[in-house]
Amino acid sequence: MSSRIPFKYPRSRHVRKQRPPVFADYRKYKPFLRDEFGRQCVYCRMPDGPKTPNEFGVDHYKPQKRFPELQADYSNLYYCCNACNSRKRDFWPTPTQLKRGVYVPAPCQHKMSHHLGYHQVEVRSRTIAGTWTIDLLDLNRDDDMTYRGWLLRQIERTFADWTACRDRLGKIKKVLARGLPSPKVAKLDAQRAKLRVALSIAEADLKMLTGAV
Ligand SMILES: [Zn+2]
Repeated sequence: MSSRIPFKYPRSRHVRKQRPPVFADYRKYKPFLRDEFGRQCVYCRMPDGPKTPNEFGVDHYKPQKRFPELQADYSNLYYCCNACNSRKRDFWPTPTQLKRGVYVPAPCQHKMSHHLGYHQVEVRSRTIAGTWTIDLLDLNRDDDMTYRGWLLRQIERTFADWTACRDRLGKIKKVLARGLPSPKVAKLDAQRAKLRVALSIAEADLKMLTGAV
């Protein structure tokens, strides 16, 4: 396991792996989208673990109002936090805006990192589309940046716990391999059992904090 920082934009276009059945109600695609996009909002990269999935929903990349025929089309749907979803609303670029490079990038159609990048806890723009997206979705609200900082510190601490448990288990394994009197072996076995529990807790916490599946 390596430390996984959630605030990164994908470097390549996403190719959909999930094959959900056809639903008339787009909301039923949410669990598939959740796994498809690594439990993170595709626009701000916030993982849903610390926030809970109830604060996330289904984004219609092409808005329902303009494209009602795509309202339950899986290829038009993304996993998205409620904040980004409500700010994006029914935005769809006009032909004039498109000519100027004004649009919201989508992970299956665009290389997100070409348009947007994280500098510590701040989203920075790399293109006109990136600037538009940061403004439209208000990606750098003070509260959001504070929260991202807190989250990164939690991830760092949990990863340090995980590493300490793993290293200690490695050392015990080496000591046991040398051969010891049985009372000492029993003591180390007990320590090992505790460390294994702590390791699996740290692993579960990291998955929760980062959105890693
Ligand atoms: Zn978001």
